[in-house]
Amino acid sequence: MLAGRSVVEHGRRNGVRGQIQMSQQTVAIVGAGLGGFQVASVLRDLRFPGRVVLVGDEPHAPYHRPPLSKAFLLGTTEESKLGMRPPTFYADNRVELITGKRAVAVDRAHRKLALEDDSVIQYDHLVLATGARNRPLPVPGTDLSGVHFLRTVDEARMLRASLGHVKRAVVIGAGFIGLEFAASALKYGVDVTVIEVANRPMARALSVPMSAVFARELTKMNVRLLFNTQVMRLVGEGAKVTGVETVEGQVVPCDLVVIGIGVIPNVELAATCNLDVQNGIVVDEQLLTADPNISAIGDCAAHSSAHADGIVRIESVQNATDQGRCVAGRIAGRPSRFTAVPWFWSDQGDLKLQIAGLTAGCDRTVVRGDPAGTSCAVFCFRGERLLGVETVNRPADHMAARRLIGNHVSLTAEQAADERFDLKQPGAAAALSRPSQP
Ligand code: FAD
Ligand code: NAP
Repeated sequence: MLAGRSVVEHGRRNGVRGQIQMSQQTVAIVGAGLGGFQVASVLRDLRFPGRVVLVGDEPHAPYHRPPLSKAFLLGTTEESKLGMRPPTFYADNRVELITGKRAVAVDRAHRKLALEDDSVIQYDHLVLATGARNRPLPVPGTDLSGVHFLRTVDEARMLRASLGHVKRAVVIGAGFIGLEFAASALKYGVDVTVIEVANRPMARALSVPMSAVFARELTKMNVRLLFNTQVMRLVGEGAKVTGVETVEGQVVPCDLVVIGIGVIPNVELAATCNLDVQNGIVVDEQLLTADPNISAIGDCAAHSSAHADGIVRIESVQNATDQGRCVAGRIAGRPSRFTAVPWFWSDQGDLKLQIAGLTAGCDRTVVRGDPAGTSCAVFCFRGERLLGVETVNRPADHMAARRLIGNHVSLTAEQAADERFDLKQPGAAAALSRPSQP
């Protein structure tokens, strides 16, 4: 498939009994987002001496996405502050950053990665960190002007420029993107309606009691929440969006729409070179695909987790960061299993949501603190096992929960609910009684 393409760089092979010396190896990373950046920078932190090539299809050096729906949208963080490192970092650390070019094919047999401009990178190890893309909304009208997505800095810039000029916004999807955008838009004095197919906010990520806290508090902030409904079409005058029509025929007038109905993992590159793909690129406990020269990390990777049943694909900063570190460590000669505790956060106005662990499949919840207020924790159990803890405005409980879950320590429902019970104690005791992890 790659035959005939110009080979711009060759890894030099000078093997001793088939082994390539590390200084002569090339690590190619596809995706210059958080995970890809993390692999490159940790390789250098670990003094990996070989070549590191980081390829991204966006026209930017790696940048942080979380501020896009928060501080950047609010205007309190400028675009120049979003970069993961200053522009000089890449040359200073011998990271060959290629931006604005898509990787289009992998020749596994010859370890070649082809880019869209027909250049080819010869790799010894390939890391797929291709992330995910916006899920399109399959209804008429999404091509009207005033209809936005929010994944990239280019999309966020356009949205921010519009916010000062609009009066009414409709957000489709009450997930993280939708609600963070809604909270930010309120600060511009915009009237916000959220349309969600499920019966509660962040239903995929949150327990029923924590969803209820957010539904109530967002309503108090004047976000109008429409649950259990779907969008039939977006309506417009000329080329401009003027409203969103639900399947019941209700038209919500607006001059701006944000679609935040989830993401699709970018697995095509892996699929075309016959790697196993199941709602993500399937990797083992060291984040390797079935090909020992190809790893996958971050939003695009599906892995088994000690914190879940079966295979999971996690879309979060922590996951991409920790997986990047794990893969860089292995390539640099320090292999380890990926065991990090999953955790998440979301800032929505004055509400700081933090989640430790994976709570899908929980069959019992216990609330600590007053669920009628804006500071409480929900402990999610399956049987006796503590799966995860959701907190709002309780950072100390969140940190304690991460330790509990990391040490696989459970506690009783009574302990969880009792504000006088010190959550730091069981985790600390368990950590002391265990041999330290390699
Ligand atoms: P990405 O960051 O998506 O990077 C993948 C990169 O690969 C992209 O630039 C993509 O264009 C590129 N790419 C894909 N295919 C190719 C190809 N073939 N060739 C070259 N390049 C390619 N998470 C949290 O935990 N907390 C938050 O508060 C939070 N806020 C967020 C706010 C927003 C607005 C968004 C969009 C996400 C937020 N997230 C948050 C999620 C978090 O940013 C992602 O989970 C994280 O960025 C995943 O990193 P990644 O490297 O796997 O993918
Ligand atoms: P998300 O959290 O998956 O939420 C999407 C929501 O939209 C879900 O509740 C989904 O319901 C709903 N939905 C799906 N189809 C719909 C439709 N046709 N009409 C109305 N609602 C519909 O995804 P997101 O909020 O779009 O976020 C995108 C990505 O950015 C994710 O990777 C997310 O993790 C990341 N992100 C993370 C954070 C954070 O961690 N703080 C912040 C922003 C963004 P179903 O679940 O029933 O499909």
